[in-house]
Amino acid sequence: MYRTHNCGQLNMKNVGEGVMLSGWVQKSRDLGGMTFVDLRDRYGITQLVFNMETDSGLCEQARKLGREFVVQAEGKVMERSNKNPQIPTGEIEITVEKLEILNKSDTPPFTIEEDTDGGDDLRMKYRYLDLRRKVVRENLQLRSRMAIEIRKYLSDEGFLEVETPVLIKSTPEGARDFVVPSRMNPGEFYALPQSPQTFKQLLMVAGFDKYFQIVKCFRDEDLRADRQPEFTQIDCEMSFVERDDVLAAFEGLTKHLFQTVKGLEIEGEFIKMPYSEAMSRFGNDKPDIRFGMEISGMSELVKGKGFQVFDSVEYVGGICAKSCAGYSRKQLDALTDFVKRPQMGMKGMVYVKYNEDGTLKSSVDKFYDEAALKDWAALFGALPGDLILVLAGDRDLTLKALSELRLEMGNRLELRDPNVFKPLWVVDFPLLEWDENTERFHAMHHPFTSPYEEDMELFKTDPAKVRARAYDLVINGVEIGGGSIRIHNEDLQRQMFDNLGFTKEEAQKQFGFLMSAFRYGAPPHGGIAFGFDRLVALFAGIESIRDVIAFPKNNAGRDVMIETPSTISEEQLDELSLNVKVVK
Ligand code: ASP
Repeated sequence: MYRTHNCGQLNMKNVGEGVMLSGWVQKSRDLGGMTFVDLRDRYGITQLVFNMETDSGLCEQARKLGREFVVQAEGKVMERSNKNPQIPTGEIEITVEKLEILNKSDTPPFTIEEDTDGGDDLRMKYRYLDLRRKVVRENLQLRSRMAIEIRKYLSDEGFLEVETPVLIKSTPEGARDFVVPSRMNPGEFYALPQSPQTFKQLLMVAGFDKYFQIVKCFRDEDLRADRQPEFTQIDCEMSFVERDDVLAAFEGLTKHLFQTVKGLEIEGEFIKMPYSEAMSRFGNDKPDIRFGMEISGMSELVKGKGFQVFDSVEYVGGICAKSCAGYSRKQLDALTDFVKRPQMGMKGMVYVKYNEDGTLKSSVDKFYDEAALKDWAALFGALPGDLILVLAGDRDLTLKALSELRLEMGNRLELRDPNVFKPLWVVDFPLLEWDENTERFHAMHHPFTSPYEEDMELFKTDPAKVRARAYDLVINGVEIGGGSIRIHNEDLQRQMFDNLGFTKEEAQKQFGFLMSAFRYGAPPHGGIAFGFDRLVALFAGIESIRDVIAFPKNNAGRDVMIETPSTISEEQLDELSLNVKVVK
C-alpha cells in the first residue's frame, strides 16, 4: 500500500489520524530543529514535519531529500500552529514517523512552480515535468471536464459517437495532407484525415441521423500560435435538418458548457450575422462583439473635396474611439506605425480630434473645414472628447486594417474583458473564394457545402456572389467552429466539382464513392465541427492552444521531447518501397 489519502485531502477533521501519503517533494525547508517538506501530487500539497528532538535519524533523512524525489511518508495528522489559508490542507501537517524514498530525482532543469524559470523549448523537451506544474495540469483537467460534458450533452440529445478511420484518402479541407506509405501496396499512400467530413456524410446516408466524435484531425500547414499539425475537433452531423436546427443544437451545447464548466449563463439566442455585414461593420468574419467601435464607410462623405488620397482609392472608412481626443502626437504616431506595418499595407492614417471644447482638429484640415468634420463626427455619433481614425485604400485591405486597428484600440482601452463571453453565428458565407495563386475559385468552406438555391443563377454571371448555407460560431473574436448544410444530390455535387475546376475524372477519382452513395437515398443533412483545443483555450483564458494539449508540437512541427519527425532506417524504406530524396 502506498497511501491512505492523497495530498489534497486532509484537513482539521482528520487531526489525530494515522495516515500514509505518497508524492513528490515540492520543496523542503530546514529550520534547525525542524525540517518541513511540501509533498505534492495531482490533488494538492501537504506539509510534512520532521522533528530533530523526537527522531534525529529521520530528520537527517528528510534533510537529504531533493526536489522531485518520490517519497512515501507515514505519520499523524496534527493541527498546524502556522496556518496557510491559501490551500485546503493549510490548517494541518503530518508529523512523520516513517519515511521511504520510492525514487530519487535529478535536479529538474527548471522549477516546478507557477512562474517557472524554464523557457518554452526547455519546457517542451521535459514536458512531463512541465505537466507537473499546477497551471499546466489545470488546463488539462479543464479539457477533460469539457470533453465529458460534451459527451454527456450530445448523447442526451441523441447523438451517437462513431469512430471514423485515420488511414484514409485525401479530404478537401483546403490544407496539405499528411500521408502514410502503404507497405502492402507499394507506391501507394494513405492520407491522414483533415477532418472526418466524407465519413460523417456517409454515416448520414447510412441512416445514423445524429453523429458526433471528439476526433484528431491532421493538416500539414505552416504553424502559428493557434495552430497545430494535429488538433482535435468536436465533429458532428445531423440528418433532416435546416441550418437553424444545427445552430440550435450547437448553441445548446455551447451554453451547456459555459453553464456547467464556467458557471456562466449566456442569455438569449446568439445573434446571426451575415458574412457581408460582419465584413462591413467589423472588417472581419470573426468579429469581437464585446465592444462597439464599429467601422463606418465614409467614401461618399469625403470624396470630391480635392483630397487626392481619398479621391484615388476604392474605399475610405473609419472608427471612432471614445474619449481619446486627448491622444498625444506620440500615441497617434504609434497608431500610424501600427497600420503601416507591411502585413497591414496601409500608407497612412488620418485622424480627427473632437476636442472637449467642441472644436474639431484633423490631420487633413487643409481639405476639410470644421463643418465637413462635423459631418464626419455625426456619421460616427461622435461626441466631444472622441477620436476618429480614418484609413483609405483597396476595400478588402482597408477593412482588414480597420479591423486590426479596432482590435488594437479595444486592447488599449481595455474593452476586451476576458471575463465576458459574446458568442455569435456568422452566416451566409460566400460559397467560393478566388485564389490569386492558382487563378481559380476554391470552395471557401469545402466542396460539399450547399449553395443557396436562389443564388444558383449567379454561378454563370458572378460566382463570387453565390452564398453558401455555411456558418461559423465566433466567440470574442475567435472562430470556434464552422459547418454547413451539405449538398445531398449527386448532380449538384458533380456540378459543384465542375464549378471548382475539377475535371470529371478527377472528381470521380477523388470523391466517386461519395457521389455513388448519393445515388442510394441520401437524406438532406448538415453539420458542424468545433475546434476543441481552441474552445478549451478560450475557457482557460489563454491565447495559445499549445497550452491545452498534453504533448504539443513546436512551430516547426517538431516534438522536441521524443525528437520527431526523424529519419527511418534503410530497411524500413526498402520495406515501404521508398527512395528518399532530400533537397536542401
Ligand atoms: N469538416 C469541416 C471542417 O473541418 C466542418 C464541417 O463542415 O462540419 O471545418
